[in-house]
Amino acid sequence: MALIVQKYGGTSVGSPERVKNVARRIARWKARGHQLVVVVSAMAGETNRLLALAREVQGQPNPRELDVMVSTGEQVTIALMSMALMDLGLKARSYTGGQVKILTDGAFTRARIVSIDEERVRADLADGHVVVVAGFQGVDEAGNITTLGRGGSDTTGVALAAALRAEECQIYTDVDGVYTTDPRIVPEARRLKTITFEEMLEMASLGSKVLQIRSVEFAGKYRVKLRVLSSFEEEGEGTLITFEEDENMEQAIISGIAFNRDEAKITILGVPDRPGIAYQILGPIGDASIDVDMIVQNVGHDGMTDFSFTVHRNDYHKALELLKPVVAHIKARDVLSGDKIAKVSVVGVGMRSHAGIASTMFRALAEEGINIQMISTSEIKISVVIDEKYTELAVRVLHKVFGLDQPA
Ligand code: ASP
Ligand code: MG
Repeated sequence: MALIVQKYGGTSVGSPERVKNVARRIARWKARGHQLVVVVSAMAGETNRLLALAREVQGQPNPRELDVMVSTGEQVTIALMSMALMDLGLKARSYTGGQVKILTDGAFTRARIVSIDEERVRADLADGHVVVVAGFQGVDEAGNITTLGRGGSDTTGVALAAALRAEECQIYTDVDGVYTTDPRIVPEARRLKTITFEEMLEMASLGSKVLQIRSVEFAGKYRVKLRVLSSFEEEGEGTLITFEEDENMEQAIISGIAFNRDEAKITILGVPDRPGIAYQILGPIGDASIDVDMIVQNVGHDGMTDFSFTVHRNDYHKALELLKPVVAHIKARDVLSGDKIAKVSVVGVGMRSHAGIASTMFRALAEEGINIQMISTSEIKISVVIDEKYTELAVRVLHKVFGLDQPA
C-alpha cells in the first residue's frame, strides 16, 4: 500500500463524463489498496473564461479580486470529483487550498507556497477517504485567497506529494508522457521513458509546456518521484522524471529538442566598449522586472562594440521604450530589434561528456541555410536564436540529426 498523489489537468476533467472516467481510474487505484490524494485543475477553458470575464469589467483587474474569481474554477471540479467518487461507493472529501491549508506568500496571481498543513488530509486518508484538493490555489497569512500562476495545479500536486512524503506524484494530462519534441511538429517524436530533472527543467523553461516549471523545481528540491501520464489511456507507464545519479541506463546524448516563439531580440549597435555599459543598458530593464534571457556582446574594436539580448515578447515594447534614453545617453549608433525570432534548443545531460554537439547542431542548421543569430549554452543545452519562419524546419532537422526520430 502506498500513498499516491494524482493530479488531473483541465482536459482530463473537461466534462461530466470525463470527471466520471477519472473517478473510475481513481477507484481502480484505491481498489489496489493505495491511499489517494487527488489534485484537480479547473475544467478546460474555465480559467480563461473567468479571466476574460474579469477583463470585461475592469481593464486591469485587481489582482486580489482576480484570485478570488479564478480560484472558483477549481472549487467546482473538486466538488464534482468527490461526487463522482461517492457515486462509485467511495468515501471522498474535497478541500479548497485554504481549507487544507496551503499557505502561500501574498503575491496575488503568482503566489509561492510557503507551507502545507497536511494533518487534515492525513486524518481523512487514515479514515479511508480519497482526498480531493483544489489545484492552483492557496491562502496567505491574512487569509486572502491566492493563486499560483497559470498551470499552477502541477505545483499543488508536487507540493502535496512532498509534504505527505508520497510514494509518487502522477501528473495526468492529455499526452501520454514527455516527448523528444512536440509531436505536432515532428510526427517521429518519441515518448521518453525517463528524463532527468535537469533536462525536464530545461525543456520546461525552453518552451515545452507539459509541466509548470515551478513544479519541476519543487520536485527536484524535495526529491519527489514525478511521473507524467495520459488520463485517456487505460494503462501506460508515461514518463518518469529521474535523478541523474539513479540513472543507470544507457543515456542518450540528447534527450529532446525544445523551442519557443515567445521572445524578441534587441541589438544596440556601436556601444562604447568600456566598464559599466552592460549595466547601463540592462539596469533599467531589470529595474522594471523584465527578465532578460540571452545576452551577447561582441569583442570590441575601435573602442566600440555591439550588444544584443532577448526579452519575452510581452515585454518587448516596454524594453524598447526604456532603452531610448539610455541609447541617447551612451551615444550608441543604432538599435535593431525584432520579434520574429524563435529559440531552438537541444537538451541532454549526455552532452556534458561529448564534444562536437555544437558543431553537429550548427552544421545541420547551415545545411538547411538557416542563419544563427545568437547562441547560448549551459552544461546540458545549446540554444540558438533563428528567424521564426525556420522554427519547424530547424526542429525537424535537429530531431533527426541527433538520432531522435522514431525507428520506422
Ligand atoms: N486552472 C489553472 C490554469 O488554467 C491552473 C491549472 O490548470 O494548472 O492555469
Ligand atoms: Mg497544465
